Amino acid sequence: MSMRKPGFFVVHALALLLFVANAAQSADEATIAVLAGHLIDGTSDTARHDVAIVIQGERITAVGGREIVPDGAEVVDLGSATVLPGLIDTHVHPLIRMDDYQTDHLRESSAAKALRGLKAVQDSLRAGWTSLRIVGDADVFYAPVEIRRAIDRGLFTGPRLAVAPHYLSITGGGGDINFFSPEQRLIADGLIVDGVDGVRRAVREEIKYGADWIKLLVTGAFMSAGDNPKDVHFSPEELAVAVAEATRLGVPVMAHAHSAEGVKQAVKAGVRSIEHGTFIDDEGVRLMVEHGTYLVPTIYIGDFYIEERADSEAQQKMVELSKRYRDEFIDNIGKAIRAGVKVAVGSDFGGYDPQINAREFASLVEAGMTPMRAIQAGTRVGAELLGWQDRVGTIEPGKLADIVAVGGDPLEDISELERVIFVMKGGSVVKAP
Ligand SMILES: [Zn+2]
Repeated sequence: MSMRKPGFFVVHALALLLFVANAAQSADEATIAVLAGHLIDGTSDTARHDVAIVIQGERITAVGGREIVPDGAEVVDLGSATVLPGLIDTHVHPLIRMDDYQTDHLRESSAAKALRGLKAVQDSLRAGWTSLRIVGDADVFYAPVEIRRAIDRGLFTGPRLAVAPHYLSITGGGGDINFFSPEQRLIADGLIVDGVDGVRRAVREEIKYGADWIKLLVTGAFMSAGDNPKDVHFSPEELAVAVAEATRLGVPVMAHAHSAEGVKQAVKAGVRSIEHGTFIDDEGVRLMVEHGTYLVPTIYIGDFYIEERADSEAQQKMVELSKRYRDEFIDNIGKAIRAGVKVAVGSDFGGYDPQINAREFASLVEAGMTPMRAIQAGTRVGAELLGWQDRVGTIEPGKLADIVAVGGDPLEDISELERVIFVMKGGSVVKAP
């Protein structure tokens, strides 16, 4: 039928396209003014009061007093709320499901994981996390990359994602499966790589299939069975080739490292961030300052297991180690903070309610940050770690309008960040009071 009247359909298709284009254009040009009692902008050391933020399309165009609101702007009045830059969590695993970690991928397809992971990152966005860095996830294929692509193409609402698809691990390392009999030849949750050639090939393959970051398990881990977080896993040669290869292809490297020696080797090799840094020593702190390496401590996750999952059979190692080393860990991170290491917020989120990821802010305050500095760690510093400081992380003209709000004063009570009442990503309201 349609073959007989091609003109008719072409005209209608064009009209539809024009309509869609116009709608998109007017949405781009819409002017919104967000009014709030208080503003923490990610840069200043003090909050501002009775503010207006003017947003045109997806960007902030002005920040000031109420007098800057242009005529005809759509006003979003948040009353006495405190507005902040969208929160940035630089260490998440949306596909991990706590107790099923390391075996889930044997039961669930990559497609199933992509759907579940999409839901998890959408929940995180509604909890206030407008940007996430996925730091290797429990999928043999590339579900996290597909989630990022689907969001970036506008198929679904979701946070901005930077993705390391897998954690690269040595045979017997934290990404391997070390708890079955040797007869079982199973594909591990991590990407198992050995030797300089193996590491080089794996880095190239990750990047070929869409990696924004390379994640290395430089030492053993807390959550995986059969390995020791105090052991260094990759050889210096393997570390060097991973960083050299990724750098040549323009992709940064992050290193999961608990042991003091592992931290030092990874920093010297030139990684951009150290994840955890549990047993970092004075020399490691000095090296991190010298190299400008970021630290993402992920403190709260240990408390989560101690307080809420102490009876988890699959995670007894995590519970035990978290208890044993908690005080030492907090002390060590305190030293790094006082020495001026750049610390960003990372929750190590893996499959629970994302509201509680904001408890990491309280952990950083316990380790020695002021609440203002902790907020900056979860906004501006996170953006700098991601290399996105030209786009997000602060509330100032020219930045993308990623804005959240809490009802109370997070400088008085940092747990306010667990109760985000308003979320805007790139000028679009995701959640309103
Ligand atoms: Zn992690």
